[in-house]
Amino acid sequence: MQWAIKAARLYDGTRQAMVQDAVVLLKNTRIAAVGPAAAVSLPPDIEVVDAGDRTVMPGLIDAHVHILFTGGPRSGEESRTMSDNQVLLTGVQNAQLGLRSGLTTVRDCGDRNYLSLELRDFINAGNLAGPRMVCSGPVITTTAGQLWWSGMECDTDDELRRAVRTLVKNRVDFIKLMGSGGNATPGSNPEVSQYNISGFQAVTDDAHRMGKKVAAHVHGVDSIRLAVQAGIDTLEHVPFRTHGTIEYDPRLVDEMIEKDLVVSLAMPATWYRLRAEDMVDVRAHPQHLWTQRYDTIRRMFEAGVKLVVSSDQGSTSTRIDELALLMEFLVRELELPALDMLYGVTGLAAEALGIDDELGTLSPGKIADLVVLNGDPSADITALQRIHLVIKDGKVVVRDGALTW
Ligand SMILES: [Zn+2]
Repeated sequence: MQWAIKAARLYDGTRQAMVQDAVVLLKNTRIAAVGPAAAVSLPPDIEVVDAGDRTVMPGLIDAHVHILFTGGPRSGEESRTMSDNQVLLTGVQNAQLGLRSGLTTVRDCGDRNYLSLELRDFINAGNLAGPRMVCSGPVITTTAGQLWWSGMECDTDDELRRAVRTLVKNRVDFIKLMGSGGNATPGSNPEVSQYNISGFQAVTDDAHRMGKKVAAHVHGVDSIRLAVQAGIDTLEHVPFRTHGTIEYDPRLVDEMIEKDLVVSLAMPATWYRLRAEDMVDVRAHPQHLWTQRYDTIRRMFEAGVKLVVSSDQGSTSTRIDELALLMEFLVRELELPALDMLYGVTGLAAEALGIDDELGTLSPGKIADLVVLNGDPSADITALQRIHLVIKDGKVVVRDGALTW
């Protein structure tokens, strides 16, 4: 089946400027042609949807979620105490909410008991409306380390290798390593690395040997350094924490760029709006460190780091439909360029996930995952909060906020 969408403008998921008066021709589940309306010849007698003064762009990709977890104000405690059934139902709820907010792909960075894979396969089989999922399954962490209650506890290099092999055997898409402690786990230390270089290297080498990418949660400067040294594919969070403060390291950032590594922000959009009493079960940065954290983001961007915009949904007070709020924050408050941030939730995010041959940009042959927005996100980033249509596999799945199947 062929049909087309016309719109006043189109963002193609690259760093190119918007195309004015654009058209996308869809054939079954794929994009057949895309470009200025004057340059694309449409077959006669096909349905052409005129989206008017709207913007067509690739479906949004959130490269860091925990889809099985509530993201409520007590999400950390809930993720420890909910039953597997409650967790899986929460995943269904989040999958639908995420799709309605324009997410056509998410990378799940840590589940429990491989339940995210059940959700992934159920959605892929066409049984449930939801985003495509790229899943790590359980995280790898130390005994008593960050998210130990839902991860695989490994302390030696041999245990790390066995964990990577077990995860691959159980059909995960990539490996998630907890490189440092974190906010969500009492007793873990965010500033200190959980492994030495041989541990980081054991995970990276074994994962790469089997064709899997590695994402590492790294808060402390030491853990960031070891992850860069080991060639971890995506560095998550990266707030440069050390000795109770934040210390940006420009040489370390240069090395990230040389090695073509990706930084995935995994930064909840809402935290900057919350009061201390809302953060009931999280030990976040002391308030005075947030401006330093924001400064490191600006500096990494200006240095030329590949910056993927991701939400860490599932952490405290972070819902799956809030990626657009994070985009608003980055563009309005941190004054980062809108097009580059859009690239960070489309083409660049697809590259980081290793799915850019199929998704992330609008070009002939790619899978037809698109969103149509009311407004122009390059001029007003809040247009991302006004999703008109979500199209997945060439089919309209959401119209004005409601699922259509
Ligand atoms: Zn996370």
